[in-house]
Amino acid sequence: MAMTRSLAQGPAALARPSARAGAGPPFSFAAGAGPLPRAVLRKLRADLACHRGTGGSLLDLPFTSLAFREEMERAEDNLRELLSIPPGYDVLFVHGGATAQFAAVPMNLIGRSGQADYLCAGYWSAKAAAQASRFGQIRRIPGARGPGALRIPPPGEWAVDPLAAYCHIVSNETADGVQHQAVPETGAVPLVADMSSEFLTGPIEVARYGLIYASAQKNLGIAGLAVVIVRHALCSTALPGTPAVLDYRALAEQGSLLNTPPTFAISVARRVTDWIREQGGLAAMRNATLRKSSRIYAMLDSTGFYRPTAAREERSRINLCFSLLSPELEESFLREADRQGLRDLKGHPACGGIRVSLYIGMPEAGAITLAEFMREFERRFG
Ligand code: PMP
Repeated sequence: MAMTRSLAQGPAALARPSARAGAGPPFSFAAGAGPLPRAVLRKLRADLACHRGTGGSLLDLPFTSLAFREEMERAEDNLRELLSIPPGYDVLFVHGGATAQFAAVPMNLIGRSGQADYLCAGYWSAKAAAQASRFGQIRRIPGARGPGALRIPPPGEWAVDPLAAYCHIVSNETADGVQHQAVPETGAVPLVADMSSEFLTGPIEVARYGLIYASAQKNLGIAGLAVVIVRHALCSTALPGTPAVLDYRALAEQGSLLNTPPTFAISVARRVTDWIREQGGLAAMRNATLRKSSRIYAMLDSTGFYRPTAAREERSRINLCFSLLSPELEESFLREADRQGLRDLKGHPACGGIRVSLYIGMPEAGAITLAEFMREFERRFG
């Protein structure tokens, strides 16, 4: 209770050295949707009232209009430039979030041999594998649990089945807080990555992957859109019965306009990727992600009060998970943080604990303010 009163009464107790005007609380550390960069929000506000050149709102742009075509082309060009996507890859804008891709990936790719390998290091890779098993034979390569910590299957301890049509990973496990630190070696077997929470947080080597997919609501904008980047040559063996809206070849042939696309979400993606370019591209995003996460991890590592759940070598720079001594202490942490405008820190229901999501829209002031709050919370309760 002493803590409650002190935090509620004394803003001085929580110094915010670099919280500038307009960059102070509230901050949402939610795992999805993540916060939009504030500059993008301001741009959207203006374009909602009057979209350049059309006089109408960005919300109701007809998908057949030249203005919308420009939005979508610019979003694609930005992604191609930011990620240095090599020739031979299609960029698709699709409905249904990443979950629809849990089914679309096997429907499009598994036909080559009827079997696929799934590295299962957490909640979302298990979900992806469960969906895929409706369409073929799925071999699950499980992550181990060390002493209190999750582990991604280490490279030397598994080998891809050469007969697999593809090998699937979740590059950053959003719920568990573990992240692949290197791209797994899969030889001639195409590597497929769900990058939903890692997408655009740093450069990636697209040529190492046969297919990358990501839902938009974490780092690319808002819910209702997912992006698929797929080597064109892989898209020839969709299973019979694959619906057109999930068929990569059909989508590529129609330039993702097989039906009305999520127009507003695509326009948001265009503005987010414009903003990333203005900030200096994906190298700048990686540096900001490292700075924000280092600040929180420095806090976590300086004390036994907070208990990080992932092994140090593979903990996530994007979704940082930890627990406290008791569920009661976690509840009061969440309650006090919320009062200070530090919101949505509750861990995924399947994993519990506390989760700090640091997507690209989270300003550094958010990580600084949270670290200060954590220090103060420990001082009172530790
Ligand atoms: N994969 C990962 C890694 C995720 O983090 C999520 C959502 N948190 C999903 C898939 C599911 O995404 P959606 O809700 O867009 O279907």
